[in-house]
Amino acid sequence: MTNKLLMPNDAVRQADIRRPDGTTRRYTGSIVTPADAHDERALREYGATPAGLGTWATSRGRRCTDCGFAAYFVTCGRCGGHCPKET
Ligand SMILES: [Zn+2]
Repeated sequence: MTNKLLMPNDAVRQADIRRPDGTTRRYTGSIVTPADAHDERALREYGATPAGLGTWATSRGRRCTDCGFAAYFVTCGRCGGHCPKET
């Protein structure tokens, strides 16, 4: 069973999860899918919460002031510009 996790907006855009075998697995984005239970626990420690609780729809809505790209993060994924929340 795979649980999608919603990363906390603004606080974390990227999480590097240290694996028991010494490797690091990187998760990026607002919604991540943990590869296994270990990663899920680690991601939850970053503040991730199970997706699908109804918070996702209201947490999106940023728009780049430079190129107009509809972004999920404060930094534009297209041009690197600033993306304030739309109100
Ligand atoms: Zn942009």
